[in-house]
Parts: sequence; C-alpha cells; structure tokens
Amino acid sequence: MLKLFNSFSSSKEDFVPFDKNLVKIFICGPTVYDYTHLGHARIFLIYDLLSRCLNDQGLQTDVLVNLTDINQNVFNKANENSITYKDVAKFYASAFVVDLQSLGIQSINRLAYVSDYVSSIEKQVQKLVQKKVAYMAHGNVYLDVSKVQNYGKISHQTRTQLNLHRLDIGPGKKNQEDIMLWNCTEDFDFSWESDLGKGIPWWHMQDTAVAIENFGKNYDIHGGARELLYPHHEAHLAQYELLTDSEEPVKAWVHVGLVLSGGEKMSKSLGNVVWVKDLVKKHGSDMIRLYIFSKHYRADMDFSEKELLLQKPLLDLIRLTKSHVSDTTHKDISNLIHDFTESLNDDLDSPAALAKLEKICIGVKNGKSIASTDFNRICKILGIIHDATN
Ligand SMILES: [Zn+2]
Repeated sequence: MLKLFNSFSSSKEDFVPFDKNLVKIFICGPTVYDYTHLGHARIFLIYDLLSRCLNDQGLQTDVLVNLTDINQNVFNKANENSITYKDVAKFYASAFVVDLQSLGIQSINRLAYVSDYVSSIEKQVQKLVQKKVAYMAHGNVYLDVSKVQNYGKISHQTRTQLNLHRLDIGPGKKNQEDIMLWNCTEDFDFSWESDLGKGIPWWHMQDTAVAIENFGKNYDIHGGARELLYPHHEAHLAQYELLTDSEEPVKAWVHVGLVLSGGEKMSKSLGNVVWVKDLVKKHGSDMIRLYIFSKHYRADMDFSEKELLLQKPLLDLIRLTKSHVSDTTHKDISNLIHDFTESLNDDLDSPAALAKLEKICIGVKNGKSIASTDFNRICKILGIIHDATN
C-alpha cells in the first residue's frame, strides 16, 4: 500500500482515496507569464511519478492544474507587448504544456485558467460574507481568520504565531493575518465589474473556486511547492471547508521541496534560472527524470549539471537491459522489482527505487533474465525510454 507524507498530520500515512478506483489530485499551477523552469517542472515530474505509481496499482487519476492568469505579472507582460492578458496567458500556457510534454509528463488531464472562474469566485466570496466569516473593509473583502475554527492547522501555527504575519495589507483589516479575497484598492490594468466592487479576485480564492467547481465537496491530494503551505494552502483549506461544509475535504497534502540554483532560489534577476526547454534540448527527458528522481521529493535540491550527468551510467544500463529482455523473469530480479515498487510505496522514495533498478540492470547484464512486460512496467512507472512500449 502507498504511504505518503501528509503535511496536515506531519507523518507518513496509508493513502486511501475517497473513491477506491479514482484519485482526484489538484496541483497548484504556474502563473502564466514566463517559460517553465526546473523548480516548477520538479513538482509536475513528482506528481507524474505519483500518478504513474497509482495507475500501476490499478487506480485511475484525475489531475487538475490551475493556470493563474489573474496576476500583476501577467498584466505587466500584456502591457509591455500591447496585447491582452488572455493572449499572454494562452501563449505561456501552451509553452507550459509543450515543456511538460517534452519531459514525458502525461498525467495532467484538466487545465483551468482561473479567469474562467471569476463569476464562481464572486459568488463564493459573497457566500463567505453572508456567513459572516468575511468582511468588507474600504472596498476590499477579507476572510476573518479569527472566525475560522482551527485556523493554522495545516501550517501548524498557533494564533500567536499567525498574528506575527502581516498579510495583504490594507486599511480596516481586523487581524493582521486576515486573507484578502477580493481586491478593489489597487489600480490594476485589468479588473472585473462585480457587486463586490470593481476589482480582481485575489490569489487564494482563485484556486478554491477552481477546485470546488471541478471536484465538488472533496478530493484526494493537494500539492505544490512546500513554500505554498502558508498562507496559500492554509487559506485555501479554510475557504474550502467553509464553502463546502466539508470537514477535512482533502485526504493528503503533499509538498515538494525547492530546486535551488547556485544555492539560491531561481530568479531572472540573479540570472540563475534553469529553463526546461534548454535542459531538455541539452540532456533529453530521461536524464532529467532520473536526475530529479535521484533526490527525495521532500528535500530541497541545488541544481548541478555535474550531478545530472552522473545519471548517464544508469541510463546506459537501463538501455542495455532493454536489449536483453526475454519472456521470463529470474526470481532474484522479481524480488528486486518488488523492492523497487515497495520503495516507491514508501512515500515515493525514488532514490531507493533507482538503487534497486540499478541492481536489476546489473543482474540482467550478468545473465539473469527479465521479461519484457516487467521491464516495460518499470519504464512506464518512471516515464523513461519512451515508457519502453515499443
Ligand atoms: Zn495554488
């Protein structure tokens, strides 16, 4: 059985979906104003591995990714190029899809532009105001987190700790850590007419509306970078519970570590961004997948081309194994394949799984047999060697 580290409980848990045949997954998607860098790609690669593991166990997956197109960075890009924000979003969303496809990521079946959900967001914010858990202050609407039961439960913060955060600053806020839902104060280049006032739906509410409209009262896994845990996921969970009257509507919160570059967070201004399109062109998808999977997903990693190249001997061994497949699998190899899947079942311990794969390949090189079905299965789980389907 698959065990996942759930940020909610801070422990590894047996993963049991709401529906025993279908796993609904929401991954926080990109703000669509630039190309995909390796830090973003890591999240989708890890979730692709997770989906492939679930598929291998006979479960279907329904993976939803939101595309944030209501954001000042998108608006700025639109102005710079004298085009609409929608044009910017479409361009970079297409590039995002191309980048993910170039990495063999096939698991995402729903992409949702948040701007298609503005009327839902509006109704949901109104509902929160009617429930008296949200309030208006100088035109903006905020979630009053002091009225949310157990607020801080996913980021494991006490009220005192929460109170140290100064979020979404604006006049008339009741608590410093209250979350903005609808923003009317700032002079945005694009805005929406609403009974709430002309403004823009604020970040955290965007994801909540997308998730509720697509998945209803609950879903199984919510994921993204670990840095999104607070305030983004804390706010999302509170909003989701209030709007759906669900208790614990998400089974597991699975967060992925950062990819640093030269010890720092990737940023254009530092000039240390590793773009997926460049990396794929240089090294190919298999090398990148093996490199990303060579680190445990919860750990931060510092990108190193030297370390990426260390995957080459393993990839060569896997290719060699492909040329040695037969109709049967030796008992020792079967045992190692079992260990390989058990490693992945242990909170996606992909470094341990790759170590088992290396032993499998060495065993085959030394004359032990592997059936093509078993070899293909391994490649399919890892998404390598074109899934070895041919
Ligand atoms: Zn999100």
